[in-house]
Amino acid sequence: MGAGKDAGVVTPREGGLMAQNVKVSLVVGHTSLSPGAWAVEPVGMYEYKFNTALAEHLSTMLGPEFETTIYFRDNMTIREAYHYISLWKPDMSMELHFNAATDPNAYGTETLCAPRSAAFAGVIQEAMCKGLGRDKGNRGVKTLIAPEERGFSSVYSLKCPNILIEPFFGSNTRDCELMLKNLERFCVCLVDGVKYYLTLS
Ligand SMILES: [Zn+2]
Repeated sequence: MGAGKDAGVVTPREGGLMAQNVKVSLVVGHTSLSPGAWAVEPVGMYEYKFNTALAEHLSTMLGPEFETTIYFRDNMTIREAYHYISLWKPDMSMELHFNAATDPNAYGTETLCAPRSAAFAGVIQEAMCKGLGRDKGNRGVKTLIAPEERGFSSVYSLKCPNILIEPFFGSNTRDCELMLKNLERFCVCLVDGVKYYLTLS
């Protein structure tokens, strides 16, 4: 009777969600006034600018089989931003960052999440490392349990699988080179990861 043709309706099925009409929220970390960490050359920009471009590219690559919305945290608290996101009822959400440390030798990829999003985080963590071609520097999934931990209020704010990604260290020159050199493959693998996650039961 035409059921399932309604635009915007996610039809659950055994083994996970259908890719059709899956709603993905991409959240750009930080704000234009407080743009986060600086990435050294060859990236040469703050998190906010880098991840605005990354979100736009990922949105294009997710394509028409997904409904993708890019959210910003400007002029509001993280809680307020996630309140707006929750009203949209996404099926999955990723907040985009990169890491930084005072030690310029620190490097690697990590994904932050609440315990209930560990499966999604694990898939995306491996997808990012594959995309970047990392032979080392897979720092794994960090499951947050204490409210004072960095990223806590983001990853606990939605009911859907909800993660915060940090693909590289902006404070590390080689990590910045790795990110730029493999940017296209990184995006392909990340999108593949999202699609793969949907097939999991
Ligand atoms: Zn950040």
